Amino acid sequence: MLNVVIFGAPGSGKGTQSELIINKYGLYHISTGEVLRGEIKSKTELGIIAEEYISKGQLVPDEITIKMLTNIIDTNKSSKGFIFDGFPRNLNQGEALDILLRAKGTAITAIINLSVDEPELIKRLLKRGEESGRSDDNLETINKRLEVYRTQTEPLKEFYKKQGKNISISGTGSVDEIFSRIAEALDRIKEATSNS
Ligand code: UDP
Ligand code: MG
Repeated sequence: MLNVVIFGAPGSGKGTQSELIINKYGLYHISTGEVLRGEIKSKTELGIIAEEYISKGQLVPDEITIKMLTNIIDTNKSSKGFIFDGFPRNLNQGEALDILLRAKGTAITAIINLSVDEPELIKRLLKRGEESGRSDDNLETINKRLEVYRTQTEPLKEFYKKQGKNISISGTGSVDEIFSRIAEALDRIKEATSNS
């Protein structure tokens, strides 16, 4: 299996690049954020709880997202691999994901780490807020999300570097330029893993 984590701050382009990656590599896209927004829209019990956290820019509790992720993986077992978009977001989630995949006899192959500077992130998120109407794309919540990213999510870079799985890619430029950088890295990894 090819299991890829697409990693980066809010607004770094994880969702956009995931769409291109699934088309080229046939992976199953798991965006926990999108699943949560779907639950909110359908006003499920889970959605009602999640909304409280999301609207404040905080992480939805680990028990909830880890359980959700476990269910998605279990119902898509026959997939060629997964792309994890927006998960894990803290060390505990990273460890849980490793354990979950190990139990299925697989592992994370690589993480694609999209780096974009903060002024550019804020610009992109404010622009998206005008179009998407997402309740968390306003300046106050954006700042909170960036703080959560710096304090809780960024330490995962070290976690994956220690495992030798981190690939840093510049997330500025055109969508196609960034995608060709990602594809180059993934092609290299695919080749390396097929020879081992
Ligand atoms: N979220 C979360 N856990 C997840 C995914 C999303 O808590 O695994 C919440 C969190 O409040 C986050 C929001 O959903 O700020 C939006 O996440 P998403 O990944 O969709 O947005 P992005 O960070 O890519 O802009
Ligand atoms: Mg996203």
